[in-house]
Amino acid sequence: MTDNMVLRGATLTDGRKVDIVIVDGVIAEVAAMGTSNSACERELDCSGLFVSSGWIDLHVHAFPELDPYGDEIDEIGVKQGVTVIVDAGSCGADRIGDLAASRQGALTTVFALLNISKIGLQRIDELSDLAWLDRELAVQAVQMYPDFIVGWKARMSGSVVRENGIQPLRIAKELAEATGLPLMVHIGSAPPKVEDILPLLTRGDVVTHYLNGKSNRLFQEDGRPIPALTEAVARGVRMDVGHGTASFSFETAEAAKRSGIRFDTISSDIYRGNRQNGPVYSLAHVMSKFLALSYSLGEVIGAVTAGAAQWLGKPELGRIQAGDRANLTLFTVTDEHIVFVDSEGAMRTGEHQIKARGVYTNGRLIEC
Ligand SMILES: [Zn+2]
Repeated sequence: MTDNMVLRGATLTDGRKVDIVIVDGVIAEVAAMGTSNSACERELDCSGLFVSSGWIDLHVHAFPELDPYGDEIDEIGVKQGVTVIVDAGSCGADRIGDLAASRQGALTTVFALLNISKIGLQRIDELSDLAWLDRELAVQAVQMYPDFIVGWKARMSGSVVRENGIQPLRIAKELAEATGLPLMVHIGSAPPKVEDILPLLTRGDVVTHYLNGKSNRLFQEDGRPIPALTEAVARGVRMDVGHGTASFSFETAEAAKRSGIRFDTISSDIYRGNRQNGPVYSLAHVMSKFLALSYSLGEVIGAVTAGAAQWLGKPELGRIQAGDRANLTLFTVTDEHIVFVDSEGAMRTGEHQIKARGVYTNGRLIEC
């Protein structure tokens, strides 16, 4: 059963007001407000609401049984206005089948980046023993779940790789090349140093946590980008926020904005702990921080819609177009004074907050 309806008078981020007619879970018509003659059994008055294509969170942890890096799919998905989540390496080849099965019954669409370590986040030093990097098993997993696995994940920080330095990243690049899938690399505390990581990345690879404030960061003391970053961006390496518990600094974000090193995608790195206790709370909350940094609403929404969809190679997920399956997020932007806190405990004030109000996905309207 699907919810057939007309969404009346919703506002796009460019200010246009539209009616969106949905029949059998597919967008039948997108018309300027008041010009559509389509009748449906159900009409939703969307005055005061914005609409965008469904939000995509490119970096989450959605495997419930893992601790600390786990959560329930719909808690970080549709209930927060996010119609598509990408689990970023919670599982490797050992458990990816269980993650795939856990989608059963979930209303949120889930994709996965396969951890190059077969044990995934079963331990949080998953790249410290090269025996866990089983190339054959990893490639088999990708072949087994071609519609589910959309890339690779390698967490390149000292506590994860221990004595192995840059070696896991070399293996990750081999796997990426062998399968034709992109790679998301997490950066954090050294070793390895970011100067050694970035040169190995190629067009289409993604650096997540790019605005972290750790000493092994991508921006120098004076706020200028390190040369390896400027070169990587010029090569087509993409920058993802991946806010997380420890990986977003307002000071770094301000340096990035001054030097024009733009985000390609805004993601949350959400899991149970940082959802309930902050500093993440939700993708919408992370997005609101970028309004406080003076990015426009269009830029912020673009980073969780078209920007993310492009990287996934699924442009239909990032647009509102007749003939596509309806995948929409309804939201408000409230005027209110709010104090935002980053991963370092630093604060900035904002005047607006993005709040998810509902989604239409997989044939269903779900209120947030
Ligand atoms: Zn993560």
